[in-house]
Amino acid sequence: MAYLQLNKIEKYFGAHRAIKGIDLTIEKGEFVVFVGPSGCGKSTLLRLIAGLETIDGGNLRLDGRDITALPSSRRDLAMVFQSYALYPHMTVFENMSFALKLAGVDRAIIRQKVGKAAEILDLGKYLDRTPKELSGGQRQRVAIGRAIVRDPKVFLFDEPLSNLDAALRVQTRIEIAKLHRELGATSIYVTHDQVEAMTMADRVVVLRDGQIEQHGAPLDLYDRPANRFVAQFIGTPSMNVVPAGALPHLAALAGTEGDADGFVGIRPEHVRLHPPGQQSAADSLPATVDIVESLGVETLVYARLENNTQVITRGSERRDLQPGDRTRLSFDPTAVHHFDRLGNIRAA
Ligand code: ATP
Repeated sequence: MAYLQLNKIEKYFGAHRAIKGIDLTIEKGEFVVFVGPSGCGKSTLLRLIAGLETIDGGNLRLDGRDITALPSSRRDLAMVFQSYALYPHMTVFENMSFALKLAGVDRAIIRQKVGKAAEILDLGKYLDRTPKELSGGQRQRVAIGRAIVRDPKVFLFDEPLSNLDAALRVQTRIEIAKLHRELGATSIYVTHDQVEAMTMADRVVVLRDGQIEQHGAPLDLYDRPANRFVAQFIGTPSMNVVPAGALPHLAALAGTEGDADGFVGIRPEHVRLHPPGQQSAADSLPATVDIVESLGVETLVYARLENNTQVITRGSERRDLQPGDRTRLSFDPTAVHHFDRLGNIRAA
Protein backbone atom coordinates (compact mmCIF):
# COMPACT_ATOMS: atom_id res chain seq x y z
CA MET A 1 0.00 0.00 0.00
CA ALA A 2 1.38 3.38 -1.01
CA TYR A 3 1.98 5.57 2.04
CA LEU A 4 3.15 8.72 0.27
CA GLN A 5 2.13 9.05 -3.34
CA LEU A 6 3.26 11.70 -5.81
CA ASN A 7 1.08 11.83 -8.93
CA LYS A 8 2.28 13.91 -11.89
CA ILE A 9 3.69 16.63 -9.64
CA GLU A 10 4.53 19.89 -11.44
CA LYS A 11 6.32 23.02 -10.30
CA TYR A 12 7.01 26.22 -12.23
CA PHE A 13 9.15 29.14 -11.15
CA GLY A 14 7.84 31.77 -13.56
CA ALA A 15 8.29 30.20 -16.99
CA HIS A 16 10.84 27.68 -15.71
CA ARG A 17 9.40 24.18 -15.31
CA ALA A 18 11.47 22.98 -12.35
CA ILE A 19 9.55 19.73 -11.66
CA LYS A 20 8.16 17.87 -14.66
CA GLY A 21 5.31 15.50 -13.90
CA ILE A 22 6.96 13.38 -11.22
CA ASP A 23 5.32 10.08 -10.21
CA LEU A 24 6.69 8.33 -7.13
CA THR A 25 5.34 6.00 -4.49
CA ILE A 26 6.95 5.68 -1.07
CA GLU A 27 6.09 2.85 1.32
CA LYS A 28 5.63 3.22 5.06
CA GLY A 29 8.98 2.90 6.86
CA GLU A 30 11.05 3.40 3.72
CA PHE A 31 14.20 5.55 3.72
CA VAL A 32 14.30 7.25 0.33
CA VAL A 33 17.20 9.44 -0.79
CA PHE A 34 16.92 12.05 -3.57
CA VAL A 35 20.19 12.67 -5.42
CA GLY A 36 21.12 14.49 -8.59
CA PRO A 37 23.31 17.30 -9.87
CA SER A 38 22.94 20.85 -8.60
CA GLY A 39 19.72 22.44 -9.84
CA CYS A 40 18.01 19.13 -10.75
CA GLY A 41 15.10 19.94 -8.42
CA LYS A 42 15.69 17.70 -5.42
CA SER A 43 15.21 20.43 -2.79
CA THR A 44 12.18 21.76 -4.66
CA LEU A 45 10.59 18.32 -4.71
CA LEU A 46 11.19 17.96 -0.97
CA ARG A 47 9.74 21.42 -0.32
CA LEU A 48 6.66 20.57 -2.40
CA ILE A 49 6.13 17.49 -0.24
CA ALA A 50 6.69 19.59 2.91
CA GLY A 51 4.19 22.21 1.76
CA LEU A 52 6.81 24.97 1.69
CA GLU A 53 6.15 25.49 -2.04
CA THR A 54 2.79 25.28 -3.76
CA ILE A 55 2.18 22.42 -6.18
CA ASP A 56 1.26 23.66 -9.69
CA GLY A 57 -0.08 20.39 -11.08
CA GLY A 58 -0.75 16.81 -10.04
CA ASN A 59 -1.51 15.69 -6.50
CA LEU A 60 0.04 14.39 -3.34
CA ARG A 61 -1.49 11.76 -1.06
CA LEU A 62 -0.29 10.78 2.40
CA ASP A 63 -1.73 7.81 4.25
CA GLY A 64 -4.85 7.75 2.10
CA ARG A 65 -5.52 11.49 2.27
CA ASP A 66 -5.09 14.15 -0.44
CA ILE A 67 -2.71 16.74 1.07
CA THR A 68 -1.94 18.68 -2.13
CA ALA A 69 -3.51 21.91 -0.88
CA LEU A 70 -2.98 21.49 2.86
CA PRO A 71 -0.73 24.05 4.58
CA SER A 72 2.59 22.74 5.79
CA SER A 73 1.54 22.85 9.45
CA ARG A 74 -1.31 20.41 8.84
CA ARG A 75 0.59 17.81 6.79
CA ASP A 76 1.99 15.89 9.74
CA LEU A 77 5.53 16.00 8.34
CA ALA A 78 8.71 17.23 10.02
CA MET A 79 11.59 18.79 8.17
CA VAL A 80 15.24 18.91 9.28
CA PHE A 81 17.27 21.61 7.55
CA GLN A 82 20.93 22.01 6.77
CA SER A 83 20.94 25.24 8.77
CA TYR A 84 19.33 23.55 11.82
CA ALA A 85 16.87 26.48 12.15
CA LEU A 86 16.98 26.43 15.96
CA TYR A 87 15.66 29.31 18.07
CA PRO A 88 18.87 30.90 19.39
CA HIS A 89 17.43 32.33 22.60
CA MET A 90 15.74 29.09 23.69
CA THR A 91 17.35 26.18 25.51
CA VAL A 92 17.65 22.75 23.94
CA PHE A 93 14.63 21.61 25.95
CA GLU A 94 12.58 24.62 24.82
CA ASN A 95 13.63 24.15 21.20
CA MET A 96 12.62 20.52 21.25
CA SER A 97 9.34 21.10 23.06
CA PHE A 98 8.24 24.24 21.22
CA ALA A 99 5.93 22.64 18.64
CA LEU A 100 4.28 20.44 21.25
CA LYS A 101 3.73 23.43 23.54
CA LEU A 102 2.13 25.35 20.67
CA ALA A 103 -0.12 22.37 20.00
CA GLY A 104 -1.26 22.50 23.65
CA VAL A 105 0.21 19.15 24.61
CA ASP A 106 0.20 18.36 28.34
CA ARG A 107 3.43 19.36 30.15
CA ALA A 108 4.05 15.91 31.60
CA ILE A 109 3.75 14.36 28.13
CA ILE A 110 6.09 17.00 26.69
CA ARG A 111 8.70 16.19 29.36
CA GLN A 112 8.37 12.51 28.63
CA LYS A 113 8.66 12.89 24.83
CA VAL A 114 11.58 15.33 24.97
CA GLY A 115 13.29 13.11 27.56
CA LYS A 116 12.97 10.09 25.30
CA ALA A 117 14.23 11.91 22.19
CA ALA A 118 17.13 13.38 24.20
CA GLU A 119 18.04 9.91 25.36
CA ILE A 120 17.98 8.45 21.83
CA LEU A 121 20.11 11.34 20.58
CA ASP A 122 22.42 11.48 23.59
CA LEU A 123 21.41 15.05 24.39
CA GLY A 124 20.36 14.53 28.01
CA LYS A 125 23.27 16.55 29.39
CA TYR A 126 22.58 19.56 27.19
CA LEU A 127 18.89 20.26 27.76
CA ASP A 128 19.58 23.55 29.60
CA ARG A 129 22.08 24.91 27.09
CA THR A 130 21.30 27.33 24.26
CA PRO A 131 22.33 26.47 20.66
CA LYS A 132 25.41 28.70 20.74
CA GLU A 133 26.77 26.57 23.60
CA LEU A 134 26.64 23.44 21.42
CA SER A 135 28.83 21.98 18.67
CA GLY A 136 27.53 21.74 15.10
CA GLY A 137 26.83 18.04 15.48
CA GLN A 138 24.94 18.61 18.73
CA ARG A 139 22.85 21.36 17.12
CA GLN A 140 21.93 19.06 14.28
CA ARG A 141 20.89 16.42 16.81
CA VAL A 142 18.64 18.99 18.52
CA ALA A 143 17.06 19.75 15.13
CA ILE A 144 16.45 16.04 14.62
CA GLY A 145 15.11 15.72 18.18
CA ARG A 146 12.67 18.53 17.51
CA ALA A 147 11.35 16.50 14.57
CA ILE A 148 11.20 13.24 16.56
CA VAL A 149 9.06 14.61 19.41
CA ARG A 150 6.37 15.54 16.92
CA ASP A 151 6.07 11.92 15.88
CA PRO A 152 5.45 12.91 12.24
CA LYS A 153 4.23 10.60 9.49
CA VAL A 154 7.28 11.43 7.37
CA PHE A 155 10.70 12.90 8.20
CA LEU A 156 12.11 15.20 5.52
CA PHE A 157 15.85 15.92 5.57
CA ASP A 158 17.34 18.65 3.38
CA GLU A 159 21.12 18.08 3.28
CA PRO A 160 21.22 17.91 7.08
CA LEU A 161 24.92 17.06 7.32
CA SER A 162 26.45 19.46 4.85
CA ASN A 163 27.53 22.00 7.51
CA LEU A 164 29.42 19.39 9.50
CA ASP A 165 33.09 18.48 9.14
CA ALA A 166 34.03 15.12 7.61
CA ALA A 167 34.34 13.11 10.83
CA LEU A 168 31.12 14.49 12.30
CA ARG A 169 29.29 13.82 9.05
CA VAL A 170 30.19 10.16 9.26
CA GLN A 171 29.16 9.95 12.92
CA THR A 172 25.86 11.77 12.40
CA ARG A 173 25.12 9.74 9.26
CA ILE A 174 25.48 6.55 11.28
CA GLU A 175 23.25 8.01 14.01
CA ILE A 176 20.51 8.92 11.54
CA ALA A 177 20.65 5.44 10.02
CA LYS A 178 20.44 3.92 13.51
CA LEU A 179 17.58 6.20 14.39
CA HIS A 180 15.75 5.07 11.30
CA ARG A 181 16.23 1.43 12.26
CA GLU A 182 14.95 2.11 15.79
CA LEU A 183 11.97 4.30 14.91
CA GLY A 184 11.14 2.78 11.52
CA ALA A 185 10.08 6.26 10.44
CA THR A 186 9.33 6.96 6.79
CA SER A 187 12.09 9.33 5.66
CA ILE A 188 13.03 11.33 2.60
CA TYR A 189 16.56 12.63 2.50
CA VAL A 190 18.13 15.05 0.02
CA THR A 191 21.89 14.96 -0.43
CA HIS A 192 24.79 15.66 -2.77
CA ASP A 193 26.82 13.02 -1.04
CA GLN A 194 27.15 9.66 -2.80
CA VAL A 195 28.22 7.87 0.34
CA GLU A 196 25.18 9.12 2.27
CA ALA A 197 22.91 8.01 -0.55
CA MET A 198 24.51 4.59 -0.93
CA THR A 199 24.72 3.80 2.79
CA MET A 200 21.47 5.23 4.16
CA ALA A 201 18.91 4.59 1.45
CA ASP A 202 16.52 1.72 1.05
CA ARG A 203 15.91 3.35 -2.30
CA VAL A 204 17.78 6.04 -4.20
CA VAL A 205 15.89 8.33 -6.57
CA VAL A 206 18.16 9.91 -9.19
CA LEU A 207 16.81 13.22 -10.49
CA ARG A 208 17.92 15.22 -13.49
CA ASP A 209 16.38 18.37 -14.84
CA GLY A 210 13.11 17.99 -12.90
CA GLN A 211 12.55 14.35 -13.81
CA ILE A 212 13.36 10.93 -12.34
CA GLU A 213 16.05 9.16 -14.31
CA GLN A 214 15.91 5.94 -12.28
CA HIS A 215 15.08 4.74 -8.78
CA GLY A 216 16.04 1.56 -7.01
CA ALA A 217 18.10 -0.04 -4.26
CA PRO A 218 21.58 1.54 -4.12
CA LEU A 219 23.46 -1.50 -5.41
CA ASP A 220 20.90 -2.09 -8.16
CA LEU A 221 21.58 1.39 -9.47
CA TYR A 222 25.30 0.77 -9.20
CA ASP A 223 25.23 -2.60 -10.94
CA ARG A 224 22.38 -2.03 -13.38
CA PRO A 225 22.12 1.64 -14.32
CA ALA A 226 19.32 2.27 -16.80
CA ASN A 227 21.27 4.84 -18.73
CA ARG A 228 24.55 6.59 -19.16
CA PHE A 229 23.61 9.47 -16.87
CA VAL A 230 22.88 7.21 -13.88
CA ALA A 231 25.91 5.05 -14.70
CA GLN A 232 28.18 8.08 -14.43
CA PHE A 233 26.36 9.83 -11.59
CA ILE A 234 26.40 6.87 -9.18
CA GLY A 235 29.90 5.79 -8.15
CA THR A 236 33.12 7.71 -7.42
CA PRO A 237 35.22 7.89 -9.47
CA SER A 238 32.73 7.75 -12.28
CA MET A 239 32.22 4.83 -14.64
CA ASN A 240 34.43 5.10 -17.75
CA VAL A 241 32.05 5.70 -20.66
CA VAL A 242 33.46 6.21 -24.15
CA PRO A 243 32.10 6.08 -27.69
CA ALA A 244 31.99 2.43 -28.82
CA GLY A 245 34.03 3.43 -31.87
CA ALA A 246 36.87 4.64 -29.62
CA LEU A 247 37.13 1.26 -27.92
CA PRO A 248 36.07 -1.41 -30.44
CA HIS A 249 37.91 -3.83 -28.18
CA LEU A 250 35.41 -3.19 -25.33
CA ALA A 251 32.43 -3.15 -27.67
CA ALA A 252 33.54 -6.57 -28.87
CA LEU A 253 33.70 -7.78 -25.26
CA ALA A 254 30.12 -6.57 -24.84
CA GLY A 255 29.21 -8.35 -28.08
CA THR A 256 27.99 -5.09 -29.59
CA GLU A 257 30.80 -4.08 -31.91
CA GLY A 258 28.35 -3.48 -34.77
CA ASP A 259 26.71 -0.61 -32.85
CA ALA A 260 29.42 1.93 -33.50
CA ASP A 261 27.41 5.02 -32.58
CA GLY A 262 26.67 3.76 -29.05
CA PHE A 263 28.83 3.93 -25.92
CA VAL A 264 30.58 1.36 -23.80
CA GLY A 265 31.08 1.71 -20.04
CA ILE A 266 33.19 -0.02 -17.45
CA ARG A 267 33.73 0.84 -13.78
CA PRO A 268 37.29 1.72 -12.69
CA GLU A 269 37.51 -1.38 -10.48
CA HIS A 270 36.87 -3.58 -13.52
CA VAL A 271 39.86 -2.27 -15.44
CA ARG A 272 43.09 -4.05 -14.58
CA LEU A 273 46.38 -2.26 -14.80
CA HIS A 274 49.45 -4.37 -15.55
CA PRO A 275 52.63 -2.83 -14.16
CA PRO A 276 55.45 -2.16 -16.63
CA GLY A 277 57.51 -5.18 -17.43
CA GLN A 278 54.99 -7.64 -16.06
CA GLN A 279 53.60 -10.36 -18.28
CA SER A 280 50.06 -9.28 -19.21
CA ALA A 281 47.03 -10.81 -20.84
CA ALA A 282 47.10 -11.11 -24.62
CA ASP A 283 43.96 -8.99 -24.99
CA SER A 284 45.34 -6.06 -22.96
CA LEU A 285 45.85 -2.64 -24.55
CA PRO A 286 48.95 -0.45 -24.25
CA ALA A 287 48.47 2.78 -22.29
CA THR A 288 50.44 5.61 -20.73
CA VAL A 289 49.98 6.73 -17.13
CA ASP A 290 48.63 10.30 -16.82
CA ILE A 291 47.88 10.74 -13.12
CA VAL A 292 48.31 8.57 -10.02
CA GLU A 293 46.19 9.25 -6.91
CA SER A 294 47.14 7.19 -3.87
CA LEU A 295 44.30 7.16 -1.36
CA GLY A 296 45.94 4.77 1.08
CA VAL A 297 43.46 1.94 0.84
CA GLU A 298 43.37 2.13 -2.94
CA THR A 299 45.11 3.73 -5.88
CA LEU A 300 43.43 5.50 -8.78
CA VAL A 301 45.41 5.56 -11.99
CA TYR A 302 44.30 7.70 -14.93
CA ALA A 303 45.80 6.15 -18.05
CA ARG A 304 45.62 7.08 -21.71
CA LEU A 305 45.23 4.54 -24.51
CA GLU A 306 47.06 4.94 -27.81
CA ASN A 307 43.98 6.50 -29.41
CA ASN A 308 44.01 9.14 -26.62
CA THR A 309 41.00 7.72 -24.73
CA GLN A 310 41.40 8.25 -20.98
CA VAL A 311 40.52 5.36 -18.69
CA ILE A 312 40.41 5.46 -14.89
CA THR A 313 41.46 2.33 -13.03
CA ARG A 314 41.11 1.62 -9.37
CA GLY A 315 42.86 -1.09 -7.39
CA SER A 316 43.86 -1.93 -3.87
CA GLU A 317 47.52 -2.62 -4.74
CA ARG A 318 50.02 0.14 -3.92
CA ARG A 319 51.42 1.38 -7.21
CA ASP A 320 54.81 2.89 -7.65
CA LEU A 321 53.94 4.53 -10.96
CA GLN A 322 54.85 7.89 -12.41
CA PRO A 323 53.11 9.96 -15.05
CA GLY A 324 54.51 8.91 -18.43
CA ASP A 325 55.09 5.26 -17.44
CA ARG A 326 54.06 2.73 -20.07
CA THR A 327 51.57 0.13 -18.93
CA ARG A 328 48.82 -2.16 -20.24
CA LEU A 329 45.13 -2.29 -19.38
CA SER A 330 42.74 -5.20 -19.54
CA PHE A 331 38.99 -5.13 -19.07
CA ASP A 332 36.71 -7.55 -17.24
CA PRO A 333 34.47 -8.80 -20.08
CA THR A 334 31.61 -9.61 -17.69
CA ALA A 335 31.45 -6.01 -16.44
CA VAL A 336 31.01 -4.05 -19.66
CA HIS A 337 27.87 -1.91 -20.06
CA HIS A 338 26.63 -0.89 -23.45
CA PHE A 339 24.58 2.25 -24.10
CA ASP A 340 22.83 3.22 -27.30
CA ARG A 341 23.30 6.50 -29.13
CA LEU A 342 20.83 8.24 -26.76
CA GLY A 343 22.57 6.88 -23.68
CA ASN A 344 19.97 4.25 -22.74
CA ILE A 345 21.21 0.85 -21.65
CA ARG A 346 21.17 -1.74 -24.41
CA ALA A 347 19.73 -5.07 -23.42
CA ALA A 348 22.50 -7.68 -23.56
P1 ATP B 1 21.18 22.05 -5.24
O1 ATP B 1 21.75 20.68 -5.15
O2 ATP B 1 22.11 23.01 -5.91
O3 ATP B 1 20.60 22.55 -3.97
P2 ATP B 1 18.60 21.21 -6.24
O4 ATP B 1 18.63 19.96 -7.02
O5 ATP B 1 18.13 21.11 -4.83
O6 ATP B 1 20.00 21.93 -6.31
P3 ATP B 1 16.50 23.12 -6.58
O7 ATP B 1 16.95 24.04 -5.50
O8 ATP B 1 15.35 22.26 -6.28
O9 ATP B 1 17.71 22.22 -7.06
O10 ATP B 1 16.22 23.98 -7.87
C1 ATP B 1 15.67 23.42 -9.06
C2 ATP B 1 15.58 24.49 -10.12
O11 ATP B 1 14.58 25.45 -9.77
C3 ATP B 1 16.85 25.28 -10.33
O12 ATP B 1 16.95 25.57 -11.71
C4 ATP B 1 16.64 26.54 -9.52
O13 ATP B 1 17.35 27.61 -10.06
C5 ATP B 1 15.14 26.74 -9.64
N1 ATP B 1 14.58 27.38 -8.41
C6 ATP B 1 14.56 26.85 -7.18
N2 ATP B 1 13.94 27.66 -6.31
C7 ATP B 1 13.56 28.76 -7.02
C8 ATP B 1 12.86 29.97 -6.70
N3 ATP B 1 12.42 30.20 -5.46
N4 ATP B 1 12.66 30.85 -7.69
C9 ATP B 1 13.08 30.60 -8.94
N5 ATP B 1 13.72 29.49 -9.32
C10 ATP B 1 13.97 28.57 -8.37
